[in-house]
Amino acid sequence: MYTPQDPTTQYPRPPFPPQQQDGPGDIHEMDPAPDHGEESYLGSGRLAGRKAVVTGADSGIGRAVAIAYAREGADVALSYLPEEQAQAEEVAALVEQAGQKSLLFPGDLQDESTNAELIEAAVGAFGGLDILAIVAGTMPTVDSIDDFETESLDHVLKANIYPLFWLTRAASPHLKPGASIITCSSIQGFLPSPQLAEYAVSKAGIANWTRAMAQQLAERGIRVNGVAPGPVWTPLQPAFVPNEKIESFGEQTPLGRPGQPAELAPPFVLLASQEASYISGETIAVTGGMPTH
Ligand code: NAD
Ligand code: MG
Repeated sequence: MYTPQDPTTQYPRPPFPPQQQDGPGDIHEMDPAPDHGEESYLGSGRLAGRKAVVTGADSGIGRAVAIAYAREGADVALSYLPEEQAQAEEVAALVEQAGQKSLLFPGDLQDESTNAELIEAAVGAFGGLDILAIVAGTMPTVDSIDDFETESLDHVLKANIYPLFWLTRAASPHLKPGASIITCSSIQGFLPSPQLAEYAVSKAGIANWTRAMAQQLAERGIRVNGVAPGPVWTPLQPAFVPNEKIESFGEQTPLGRPGQPAELAPPFVLLASQEASYISGETIAVTGGMPTH
C-alpha cells in the first residue's frame, strides 16, 4: 500500500464470483478476501495517545479504520452488532498487538441508550475521548416505490442517522479542543441509485449533518468531517445487493474495480489527526474516480 504502482491493478478487479450473505455479513465468507490492512497498514504515530470510538468496527471500512487508528497510536473502542462478536474479537486482538487498549462493545445502535452506554464505556476504559468515527450503517434495497414500507425507512434512519445525534450528544461533554468526529456518507448521498432511495437519503443526511455539526462545534475547537466511499469490497454488498451486481462490482468506476477497506482508512486517519487542523465540515469522496457532483 506504500509502493508506487498502478491503482487500477493494485487490488482485485471484477468479475467476482457470485456470493450472497445474510446481513450483517462475515468478512471470512467473502471471495476474494477483503484487505482491511491487517498485513498492509503501517502506522507512524499520527494519533499517538488519542482515544477513539469506532462504530461498525468488526468488518469492512470500520475494521480498517480501527486497525489503522491503533497502529497510529490510539486506543480504540469497537462498536458492532452482537452477532459479529467473533470478527470484533479479531480486531480487538489486532488493536492490542499494536500496543493499544481495546474495548469490545456489542449492541444495536438503533437503541438510544446503547449509544450513551458505548461512549461512557469508552471514556471509562480509556479516561477520555478524542475521536468519534461513526462508520456503522445498513443498506436495504427496495426496487420500487410500490414496495415502500415505513418499517424499512424507520430502520435505515434509526441505524444510519439517529446515532449521529445520540453518540455526539453523549460524547460532547468529553470532547476537548482538538477532538474530531468523522462520519461515513456514500456516493449514494450525492448520486443515488434507483433501488437505494431509503439508504441514499440517509447518506445525504449524513453529509448534511456533518456540515451542520462542524459549524456548531467549531467554536469549541472540535472538527467534524466525513468520508463518502464509492463501491468498497465489504460484507455490506453480498448482504444487501443481488448477485448480478456483485459480479461486476466496482466496474463502473474510472479505476475499474471496487475499493478495499484498507484504502478508506487513510482519509479517516487524516481527518482524525492534527494535520487536518483546517479541515472541517467536509466530506471527502473516495470513489475510485467517480465524480460525486
Ligand atoms: P460492513 O457491513 O462491514 O459494516 C457495517 C457495520 O455496521 C456492520 O459491521 C455492523 O457492525 C454495523 N451496524 C449495522 N447496523 C447496526 C446497528 N443497528 N447497530 C450497530 N451497528 C450496526 O460494511 P461497510 O461497507 O464497511 O459499511 C461501513 C459504512 O460504509 C456504512 O455506513 C456504509 O453505508 C458505508 N458505505 C459502504 C460502501 C460500500 O460499498 N461498502 C459504500 C459507501 C458507503
Ligand atoms: Mg460487520
